[in-house]
Amino acid sequence: MATTTTFDVGRMRVHILDDGVFVTDAGNLFGGSRKASIKGAMHPVLVESGDDLVLIDAGFGPELPEILVGRYELRRDKDLLDYLDESGYSAGDITHVILSHLDADHVGWALGPPSFPNSTVYVQRAALEEARQMPEKDGRRAAVPAVDKGVEDGWCELLETDGDVLPGVRVEVRAGHSEGHQIVWLGEGEDLALYTGDLAPAKIWLDPDLISGVDTDPEAARRNRIEVLSAAESRDAPVVLYHEPGDCLVKIRKTEKGFEAVPIGD
Ligand SMILES: [Zn+2]
Repeated sequence: MATTTTFDVGRMRVHILDDGVFVTDAGNLFGGSRKASIKGAMHPVLVESGDDLVLIDAGFGPELPEILVGRYELRRDKDLLDYLDESGYSAGDITHVILSHLDADHVGWALGPPSFPNSTVYVQRAALEEARQMPEKDGRRAAVPAVDKGVEDGWCELLETDGDVLPGVRVEVRAGHSEGHQIVWLGEGEDLALYTGDLAPAKIWLDPDLISGVDTDPEAARRNRIEVLSAAESRDAPVVLYHEPGDCLVKIRKTEKGFEAVPIGD
């Protein structure tokens, strides 16, 4: 397993953590019944900002959720809490958790069960409302009771739109993969880094024309992907690719057909 990648943006230090890899049939991601397996990493991001410690997305959690057993396989020697420990922190140190959306591979340690006792979990209300409408067996739907409980108990905050969760930690709603899907810009002024969530989670998703069977609104996903990757390119921003099994810290370059990733980091 790779060691944690660390970089600085503005006055913040950013650690790219790890929660293992999943293997699934390509048909689960692209629709249809392709008989090929596809592998995805999970790279939650830890941001040190003054006295605050922010986690962006939260892997699959302690074990593969029941609804995904048989469809997904989870492989890991170490999990997110081990990598957190290697970064010098423990679960109790996290003050803010930002969830890009409510898919099971993003919310695990935050919701199933909640593992960060001193944190507030931030979810877009639109993502919650969409999840509520999903079929019973859907992974997003499975997150709804935990979010509802978090709101009731006061540890989950529903966001209505774009905004700063903290100075230098700005969420921006970029729907398509899900309703209310949010990306995160880190830093200030021109010195920015980007977390794309599942808008463009791996190198293969840098092709704007890729149609994913798991996008709620493929046309919105395409439009937002182009806008966001163009912004990352023009700002020369480091970009963290959550599901990229290879180099997950990259810069974006425009190509004739779309975009490509240029690896950076250690
Ligand atoms: Zn995902």
